[in-house]
Amino acid sequence: MKGTPITERLYDYIVANFAQEDDLLRNMPAEAERRGVPLIHISPEQGKFLQVLMKAAGARKVLEIGALFGYSTIWLARALPEDGRLIALEVHPLHAQVTRENVARAGLAHKVEVREGNALDLLAQLDGEGPFDLAFIDADKPGYVSYLEHALRLVRPGGLIVGDNASAQGNVWKVDADSDAEFINAIRAFNERMATDPRLVSVLVPIADGMCVGVVNGG
Ligand code: MG
Repeated sequence: MKGTPITERLYDYIVANFAQEDDLLRNMPAEAERRGVPLIHISPEQGKFLQVLMKAAGARKVLEIGALFGYSTIWLARALPEDGRLIALEVHPLHAQVTRENVARAGLAHKVEVREGNALDLLAQLDGEGPFDLAFIDADKPGYVSYLEHALRLVRPGGLIVGDNASAQGNVWKVDADSDAEFINAIRAFNERMATDPRLVSVLVPIADGMCVGVVNGG
C-alpha cells in the first residue's frame, strides 16, 4: 500500500470538515434517480477540489463537458464570481433538462448555460466564447481524447484541464484488460495524453475515481 488508505472514518472526516453538502446538493441525487438519471456524479470532496482549483486559477469562465444532472455544475458555478460564466454541455435531453432545473433551483441560472447536444459539435462552435479558465471533462470515455484536444484549444495558458474517472475504477493500469477494455483503454489514452503533451503539466490525483489535473503551460 502506497500512501494512507482512505478508510470510511477518514473519508467521513474529510467530507465533514471540507466538503459538506447543503440541503440542495444532498437532495439532488435521489430526485435525479427518481427521474431516471444514473447516479454517476462526482463526490462532494471532488466538488470542493474543483472549487479549490478554480480559486487558484482565478477562474471566471468555465467549460463543463458532461453535466449529468448538474451536481458538479453547481459546485463549479458556486466558485465563480457573480459575473462569471459556466457553459455546460450535455448530450442527453432529460439530463440537460434536470440540470437546468437544478441550476435554477440553486439560483445560478444567471451564470450557467446548459447546451444540449453532441459535445464534439458544440465544442467546435465555442471558439468565439473562450478562452476558458478551466475545462472539466466528465462524459463518455471514448470521447475523452477528442474533448482534451478541444480543451487545449479553448483553455488559456495557466488555465486548468481536469478529467474525471482517471483511475478507471482502479483498473487504469491494466494494459490488456479482459473486461471493460474499451472504457479502460479510453481512460489510458486520455491519461497518456495528459501526461505527455508538452502543453500540459499534469498529475493523476487519486480522489474518488481519480481526477487527472493538468495546467496549460505558458501562463
Ligand atoms: Mg465521472
